[in-house]
Amino acid sequence: MHTKLQVMKFGGTSVGDAACIRRSAQIVANASREYSVVVVVSAMSGVTNRLIDAAHQAKRGDREAGKTLGDALRKQHFEALAALVPDEHARLRVECRIEELLAEGTRLYEGTALLRELTLRTLDAISSLGERLCAPVFAAALSAMGVAGVAIEATELIVTDSFHGGADPQAEPTRQRSQQRIGPLLQHGQIPVVTGFIGATSDGLLTTLGRGGSDYSATILGAALDAAEIIIWTDVEGVLTADPRLVAEARTIPEISYREAAELAYFGARVLHPKTLRPVMPAGIPVWIRNSFAPDKPGTKITQQGRSIGGGVKALTAIRDVALISIGGPGIVGVPDVVGRTFSTTAQLRAEVLLISQSSSQNDICFIVAKAHSQTTLDALRREFAQDLAHQVVDHITMDPNIAIVAVVGENMRGTPGVAGRTFHCLGNEGVNIIAIAQGSSETNISFVVSDQSVKAALLATHREFDLGVSRQFGTMQGTFTVPGGFDKTSPEILDAFEGKSDLEKS
Ligand code: ADP
Ligand code: ASP
Ligand code: MG
Repeated sequence: MHTKLQVMKFGGTSVGDAACIRRSAQIVANASREYSVVVVVSAMSGVTNRLIDAAHQAKRGDREAGKTLGDALRKQHFEALAALVPDEHARLRVECRIEELLAEGTRLYEGTALLRELTLRTLDAISSLGERLCAPVFAAALSAMGVAGVAIEATELIVTDSFHGGADPQAEPTRQRSQQRIGPLLQHGQIPVVTGFIGATSDGLLTTLGRGGSDYSATILGAALDAAEIIIWTDVEGVLTADPRLVAEARTIPEISYREAAELAYFGARVLHPKTLRPVMPAGIPVWIRNSFAPDKPGTKITQQGRSIGGGVKALTAIRDVALISIGGPGIVGVPDVVGRTFSTTAQLRAEVLLISQSSSQNDICFIVAKAHSQTTLDALRREFAQDLAHQVVDHITMDPNIAIVAVVGENMRGTPGVAGRTFHCLGNEGVNIIAIAQGSSETNISFVVSDQSVKAALLATHREFDLGVSRQFGTMQGTFTVPGGFDKTSPEILDAFEGKSDLEKS
């Protein structure tokens, strides 16, 4: 056992097929020479979506969907296993486990199709199968490389409340269980391979932490086990200045603060689950985002301090699957506690409010929730204000689903005048119409609402305006220095931040 612990999480694409699993297992094997390692795995890429789609088909009465998917998953996992594990006995053991899990899946799909009912609890049980299938394959791949991998289900470790579909972990019991179960394995030089995404209530009912929740699993376990660091291995070289799928010139940020990364995640940067940084912030455990397809690159380090950059703006993000709900009418000035009633309604539904804007005359309140919660929120508000609507005191409660939030993020924006002015000026020049605006008093982000069709134009214009893709100023803890399209050759991090770009851009 080594003194320092690394928790390494591998996302769906990093375990997408046998070659990816081999590459990821090699990363773990290398790290295990220096560190004790706990691995957290996601489902093989696309599996969770397929499990959920089939669950909805079963709910509609389709009795074949679960069976067809089960066959495809058997084939997919058996094939990966065959390529990774030459030893027949070892392979047979994992195949048996896969069969057990698929049989459990079959029963869940049959029950759903029979009842034509899909509760959140059942959906959790179904959607957890991807991680539960993947962990034994990954563990066997490690063992085949000569490092003893042991598959562990996070239901044994992570204790949550019973909010199915997005459960909250409970730190103390999680710490106790994790240390009790994982400690002895590490002492014996074994590598626990834990299912991401899932936990269980204190009485053992399986829950999930919400889509994309394996990142969160990694930090929950990292905090519970007092890890030295957490590495989230994914398919991009860290946190980029914008989503590379929308902004081709986006670049890797070498170091970013918890707060900045949390803002980006909260406003939709998929690279991190929004709650990922919560468990590690009190202890200050650093989190790295790295590319499992390019493990020689340093990626992004997320720390308490981050590293300041001149100009203040560090990155952009957009959140698209959202809807704008407005409550209004001249009469609402006279309705007591409209704001209170509105937000206690959203709180009861656990519908997270992503942005709020209110006109000063108080005759319009608008706010944004995820599309997944929008219809239930709208219905609940119409019930809450039924009397006021009937008497036309409130004259409308409406929803616009074709919008998106764009957020401009950076801790140094505080104290950098003109960021908002430049943002809105450049959007105006691009002809992007702004529907609503919000800036928190922390001044770590400016967020605004645009139509969904304008998201790309808004991101490109802002990325260009703040020079996020080209010349940057990187601050050190000691001070700030300028990188005018070139860089300080003595700084490896700066070099890496510019990796992968043409020599012309580097010079
Ligand atoms: P994983 O399966 O490893 O968890 P995800 O698909 O959940 O990976 O997250 C990685 C993806 O996040 C990237 O492929 C990228 O397209 C997207 N992404 C969005 N915004 C950013 C950003 N600012 N920096 C890096 N990646 C981002
Ligand atoms: N497999 C889960 C999902 O697709 C969790 C994750 O990948 O982080 O949402
Ligand atoms: Mg993810």
